[in-house]
Amino acid sequence: MPGSPARPADTAVAPPRTPPRGTIGPAPLRIENPGTGALLQELASATSGDVSEAVARARAAQPAWARLSVRERGQALRRVSGRLLRVEEVIETIVRERGKPRYEAEGIEVFYTCELTRFLTGRKGRRALADDVRRPFVFAYKRARVVQHPHGVVGVIGPWNWPLLNNYADCVAPLLAGNAVVLKPSQVTPLTSLRIQAIWRELGLPPDVFQVLPGGAEVGEALVEAADMVFFTGSEAAGRKVARRCGERLIPCVLELGGKSPFIVLADADVEAAARALVWGSFANSGQVCVRPERVLVEAPVADRFTAACAAAMERLRQDPDPGGVQTDVDVGAMTFRPQIAHVEALIQDAVAGGARVLRGGSARGDLPGRFFAPTLISGATSQMRVMREEVFGPVLAIAAVDSAEQAIAMANEGGRGLSGSVWSGDAARARAVARRLETGAVCVNDVLVNYFVVEAPLGGVKGSGLGFRHGPEALKQFCRSETILENAPVLGRLSNLIRDQLGFPYQLRVLKLFRRLMRWLY
Ligand code: NAD
Repeated sequence: MPGSPARPADTAVAPPRTPPRGTIGPAPLRIENPGTGALLQELASATSGDVSEAVARARAAQPAWARLSVRERGQALRRVSGRLLRVEEVIETIVRERGKPRYEAEGIEVFYTCELTRFLTGRKGRRALADDVRRPFVFAYKRARVVQHPHGVVGVIGPWNWPLLNNYADCVAPLLAGNAVVLKPSQVTPLTSLRIQAIWRELGLPPDVFQVLPGGAEVGEALVEAADMVFFTGSEAAGRKVARRCGERLIPCVLELGGKSPFIVLADADVEAAARALVWGSFANSGQVCVRPERVLVEAPVADRFTAACAAAMERLRQDPDPGGVQTDVDVGAMTFRPQIAHVEALIQDAVAGGARVLRGGSARGDLPGRFFAPTLISGATSQMRVMREEVFGPVLAIAAVDSAEQAIAMANEGGRGLSGSVWSGDAARARAVARRLETGAVCVNDVLVNYFVVEAPLGGVKGSGLGFRHGPEALKQFCRSETILENAPVLGRLSNLIRDQLGFPYQLRVLKLFRRLMRWLY
């Protein structure tokens, strides 16, 4: 976890760059530090021509990368994650372009990237990519060898809320599987990805196997046109467009989209522990987390005590940005994307108009530099309010009292999303029974958010929250196409020609009768 970093001023980070040749076109990207409001850097956006060139270079470089063994590719990827622990500039870049606490940049983004790389490049990851020889039942004289091949060039498109974790870290699985990757980070936070590209090159790794193209939605669209597969993380609206185009092109895509995760507190739960967990889960990354609890459903008998415990836990939150902008003593960081502030305010106003009460916070922090929003606690929320229906994606904790676990389950399954969830109860079996009935990708029992860091198990959305997985061997397999090579078994395989000659032309009634008896016996 974090040490005590130096605090250079924003202006020391990155002088404006001269746009690379051939990238004049779309408006330059202005990258600001949301923690201070200072301009960090202006850089040129890629053009659609740059996308075609990058994908062509990636396609040319990919076969040599795929010819390396999985172990060799894993070693290369571990060198990159190893560098993250030693290059202070990566952490500072994340902090500055996201306006987040240093603790979250290092303790969450860097940790997650290293942990994911460790797992995927380890024994289980290698096994997922190895040939799998299966013994058929009826055709016992055969062996089915299932071989994994990379798709080719994977276009990875990332959001702004985790500049490392949902951008470079999402490239690790496709790269390990032998693909080349062209990464388009969010136009709001491209600097971290560009820094990782520089590290990749400094390490002497093949430059065209991992390339970064900064730019907006139009660059993403061009990448979807050119890549052999797409791994998209972002909003549901954009994800649906990407899926539509991938469907038309008949190329695979993985979609990790928005959530509206329930946090269910049953009356027999440890209410104080649940409240402390919820305050972290709601305000970590200043609420800009896809799997965060977005609908807090508390059984009525404990709702007041639970709300008071949340308010008490919120008293201790620090939100005093330091002037250097590296945020060492901050718990709740800034709102990265300016339009998000108006969205969060509108949801709070709608809740108040519907009869909810704002017990803490409720507005942007005009007293602070940058784009901070006061951690907000709302009680008396109902499922009619926008705050309970739309993705908030900001530091708002809205509590609704429910009559029973049944009502909580019904409300949790309402709406078009299913990404994550939490269930709190003193009875583990009861909690698991509730968890099984939630229509979602993953559930924490008596915890929150931690499922995102358990890289051994798949995590992926259902309904409008996406398709496919991150994490687990399941994630790796998505970045491969399987080919089955059917071979003759070592000894029995000698019968292969004989059996086929009996079964094939000319068809013989005697064989069919034998076969019929065999089928009746078997099935
Ligand atoms: P966004 O959809 O606006 O943008 C995401 C990325 O897609 C950006 O790089 C953007 O330039 C690009 N893009 C936008 N339109 C595109 C198009 N038509 N074709 C190709 N690319 C396009 O999302 P955002 O505001 O950057 O991120 C916030 C959203 O991401 C939230 O909804 C959040 O829940 C979701 N998210 C999900 C996960 C997950 O694991 N499920 C993780 C992080 C964020």
